[in-house]
Amino acid sequence: MSAVVLRGGCRCGALAIEVTLTREPADYVPRACDCSFCQERDAAWLSDPQGVLRLQQRRESASLHLRQGSNQADFVACAHCGTLVMVACEIEGRLYAAVNAHALRDARFAPEQPASPQRLAPEDKRARWRQLWFAEVCIETTAGAA
Ligand SMILES: [Zn+2]
Repeated sequence: MSAVVLRGGCRCGALAIEVTLTREPADYVPRACDCSFCQERDAAWLSDPQGVLRLQQRRESASLHLRQGSNQADFVACAHCGTLVMVACEIEGRLYAAVNAHALRDARFAPEQPASPQRLAPEDKRARWRQLWFAEVCIETTAGAA
């Protein structure tokens, strides 16, 4: 089947996201991470290793990079409204990322499943992300038109 393009972003619109998925949205199971950081921010992670994730900053310095837990991944949130939109990690020179399914509009995914990445060893985590996450990640800034 053809690719499915979904759009979304943070609440205030400073960050826009667009994902290209290779399967129907209902085939994807967002992973609701059980750590307090993700729970507080209402995150459920979704990724497609064959898909594409694009993050667009529509305002100057719109994204805030946060580190937590084992300090390996970069959580990207809006600097203005705080919405957590994606998580990224550079592994051997390549950026891998997952998107917060709650930041995508009008998408009907499969029911969320709990995930406990905290219990994995650092090396296992990276191996898992490399397998599961988007391997094609673009981060663009379109700010400055004002
Ligand atoms: Zn925002």
